[in-house]
Amino acid sequence: MNQKMLTEKALELLKKLISIQSFSSEEDKTADAIGEWLTSFNIPFKRELNNVFAVNKHFDESKPTLLLNSHHDTVKPNSAYTRDPFHPHIEDRKLYGLGSNDAGGALVSLLATFVHFYADANLNHNILMVASMEEESAGPNSLHGLLPKLPKIDVAIVGEPTLLDLAIAEKGLIVFDAKVKGTPSHAAHPNEDNSIYNMIEVLEWFKNYKFDKVSEVLGEVKLTVTQINAGSQHNVVPAQVDLVIDVRVNDKYTNAEIAEILKGKHPAN
Ligand SMILES: [Zn+2]
Repeated sequence: MNQKMLTEKALELLKKLISIQSFSSEEDKTADAIGEWLTSFNIPFKRELNNVFAVNKHFDESKPTLLLNSHHDTVKPNSAYTRDPFHPHIEDRKLYGLGSNDAGGALVSLLATFVHFYADANLNHNILMVASMEEESAGPNSLHGLLPKLPKIDVAIVGEPTLLDLAIAEKGLIVFDAKVKGTPSHAAHPNEDNSIYNMIEVLEWFKNYKFDKVSEVLGEVKLTVTQINAGSQHNVVPAQVDLVIDVRVNDKYTNAEIAEILKGKHPAN
């Protein structure tokens, strides 16, 4: 198939994917559409839940394998969305619609690339194409959960919106729920152990704490308190304050090490 036709077919698929609601864990219909699209090229594929994957025609275990991956789930449209999120339409050569950018555009480009090389008998490597689910929710059935069922992977290209910049690494994410305790009381009574005041020291600590090891490619670990919740009445000192801490992890630490460090050191402990 010539490249112009393949581009048309990729665009057609992207419009279809946009028109089908595919929030994380509910992306069965977009998985159907991707499967049908591969079938239209007579390319056999496998499906695990809503993950769709295929290998090149002349797959050879003795060759290294290149993974092409992107996801077909989307987040929910945010409240500031002014267009119909499920109506794909082109304006000024831009295709609008929910998931057109993250990650539909990258996904159909990788799929078209896979189709282009699918039947090539002279590749010096294999190609494994995975259109994956639950990326946005980092769910158990996302690529991470699928890996044990895939052939051994030597190198990967993952499609995500980066304005066409090549990124060679990505920070990890770990989210903590923490509780800062105190003594509950009526606001009229003396209380030296007010959980909300105890937060001052805790927030200072989180604001200033720095992980020692800085990565050459990913920089520092970024630690941010993103949610605080406490109290229900004006005259009651709450027993505890709940907080959520978002940590973007570099390649110098595992998530488990980050958890150990935070558990051992922070004053909310
Ligand atoms: Zn994405």
